Amino acid sequence: MNYQNLFSEIAVEAQKIEDSGAVATYIPELGNIDPNKFGIHLTTLDQRRYGLGDFDEKFSIQSISKVLSLTLAFELEGEKLWSRVGIEPSGTPFNSLVQLEYENGIPRNPLINAGALVICDILVSRLENPRKDLIEFVRQLSGDGNLDYCRRIAESEKKTSYKNAALINLMKDFGNINNDIEVVLDLYFHLCSIELSCKDLTQVFLYLAANGINPLTGEKVTSISNSKRINAIMQLCGFYDEAGEFAYKVGLPGKSGVGGGIIAIHPGKYCVAVWSPKLNQKGNSHKGMKVLEFLTTRTQSSIF
Ligand code: GLU
Repeated sequence: MNYQNLFSEIAVEAQKIEDSGAVATYIPELGNIDPNKFGIHLTTLDQRRYGLGDFDEKFSIQSISKVLSLTLAFELEGEKLWSRVGIEPSGTPFNSLVQLEYENGIPRNPLINAGALVICDILVSRLENPRKDLIEFVRQLSGDGNLDYCRRIAESEKKTSYKNAALINLMKDFGNINNDIEVVLDLYFHLCSIELSCKDLTQVFLYLAANGINPLTGEKVTSISNSKRINAIMQLCGFYDEAGEFAYKVGLPGKSGVGGGIIAIHPGKYCVAVWSPKLNQKGNSHKGMKVLEFLTTRTQSSIF
């Protein structure tokens, strides 16, 4: 595949996409971003790299980081993990409380907020120094030892995070949170505050295209089986209640975040990341979804 030509086509295509959607403002700091930013980057398994636009600029990856906390918790807990959180799509918004009550405090999956909070609870129980150990894990994947949380974003989210507080309190009442609520929330806000560029993202998540191996170092991040399973969960649950739409139009496992980023994995081939901060009604990047649809259609590289 000639990705260089493809990226020239994407540059033209991106201009044609109707400019709609709105930047997330419910976390005040996210509202300060320039809505017209646009970047895309693709890294192949054999480390060829292609970028366009603002692909080298760091932005708030928000829920994309839930795949990283899941990877770590899955390594630590193994299959036991699934007694605390499910693997089914929710079909509800990412921060919905409704399902959680009638399903007895067991979140549908680890990629919605409630599920990611349970994962953070597990990390608080299992890691000696949860905040430090988690960022170390991301540093190793990115190859950037200076990478850190964005305290400004974490603080901003903490001030306005009434829904997450409600979710974790409800789960605590059901007995599905073992640690102090404030400690778990603090780890969650930091997890969501990580800033990476599209270029960084494609490096960080390449292990999911490589059977769980970090291609930079050759080290095992997770097992072949876990890598397959995490991809399956992303496919079914990675896009809030728009996972069906993403599978239908793009056809790759992936994960979005309310900062306007999306990562998508083609197992055995590549990892691609796109960033455009204006979100559609379901909370996914409007332009990001369209550009990825163009990319997999043009390259005939959906997994289906
Ligand atoms: N930090 C955001 C929240 O908890 C993450 C949402 C997202 O990106 O899906 O609301």
